[in-house]
Amino acid sequence: MKELNWNYPKTLADAEKLVRQENVLPHGGGTGLLLRNLTGVDGLIELSQLALRSVNVTENEVEIGSLCTYADVISELKKTDPEHILAQCLRHSANTPLRNRITIGGSIAMFPPWSDLMGALIALDAKVTLIGENSGDFPVEDYVKDSNLCKNSLITAVKFHNSGWRSAHYREIRTKSDMPVFNHTVLLKVEADKISESRIIVVGTASKFTRLTAVEDYLNSRKIDEIKPAEIEKLVNLKFAGSRIDDPDYSNIKAGIELGRMIVQMVRT
Ligand SMILES: Cc1cc2nc3c(=O)[nH]c(=O)nc-3n(C[C@H](O)[C@H](O)[C@H](O)COP(=O)(O)OP(=O)(O)OC[C@H]3O[C@@H](n4cnc5c(N)ncnc54)[C@H](O)[C@@H]3O)c2cc1C
Repeated sequence: MKELNWNYPKTLADAEKLVRQENVLPHGGGTGLLLRNLTGVDGLIELSQLALRSVNVTENEVEIGSLCTYADVISELKKTDPEHILAQCLRHSANTPLRNRITIGGSIAMFPPWSDLMGALIALDAKVTLIGENSGDFPVEDYVKDSNLCKNSLITAVKFHNSGWRSAHYREIRTKSDMPVFNHTVLLKVEADKISESRIIVVGTASKFTRLTAVEDYLNSRKIDEIKPAEIEKLVNLKFAGSRIDDPDYSNIKAGIELGRMIVQMVRT
């Protein structure tokens, strides 16, 4: 078996040089790398000595260093907004030891179909900061869709506007410790008993994630007491892959029912 070359950069400049090399991969929490076939990988860049493990919350923006773990994000956001959408998404994710290891950078780069993180970041219009072959701030949605952006580049942070959304997250799980089959992230703005803006992202569909624009159009400008869960259900038409889920049609129906329920609960509380 080929030996893996481990690198331990202490500065971003060193990490940047390393990440530009072919077949040398960043190592965040290692929870995804553990499961993947590393044949063809020459080296790993162990990132833990880089100063990328802080959460900075200002009035306008939240910036999260890529080495923050799920647990770090939950405990930092709890200080200013215990019901922040990211705290809601991540607190039921995986289990305690894993939440202490899984990093934000590794989770964005990997984007597994059960990701509890990505729906919220896409809904929040987050931007990733990259160094290496690509450098600067890029919309997280572009990072997910454009494989050139991931190539030989290191995520150093993710940031998004700090705005006052009403928010909720739903995970479709069979047992408490399951990875979700799909999950919903809903952000709403309510003004004078009407929905003024909405963003709805489903993660786990055949295309990894789907923005439910038909439901957003239904909600926008609608009075709260005119919102009907059955009408929301009818607008949900999602394609799920059969490989992880026995019955994609069942998942679509369940996704519609749960979305209707969560939106009604959000606007009534
Ligand atoms: C049993 C189990 C259950 C899980 N359940 C859930 C769950 O319910 N919900 C959930 O959201 N997640 C869950 N996860 C976590 C998820 O599957 C991934 O393992 C995790 O998101 C990867 O993050 P990491 O920091 O460990 O990345 P790593 O394993 O370190 O890396 C993953 C990939 O990202 C790259 N990478 C790492 N850091 C960076 C960076 N800064 N910039 C660019 N590329 C980088 C690596 O090279 C690699 O290709 C679970 C994991 C396990 C093992």
